[in-house]
Amino acid sequence: MRPPICAICKKRFAPSDGGKVYFKETEEQKEYNKRFDEPGFVGHPSHLEWFCEDHIEAAKELKNLSSSEAIKELKKD
Ligand SMILES: [Zn+2]
Repeated sequence: MRPPICAICKKRFAPSDGGKVYFKETEEQKEYNKRFDEPGFVGHPSHLEWFCEDHIEAAKELKNLSSSEAIKELKKD
């Protein structure tokens, strides 16, 4: 697992202050994420991102997008 660092503002926070969002997987990510089904593989799925308390609510609303689209959208504000 990656440490909790917000995907938008890069702030480091305590896991209890923010949260993680599983975004829609792109075809590329689905391929990449297959390795997580293999026994003993430990890592961070590429469609999973952390958000601090300032960004978690907005991020959750965009979870039907892919992570890169959602982050682009969130950074506009
Ligand atoms: Zn943030």
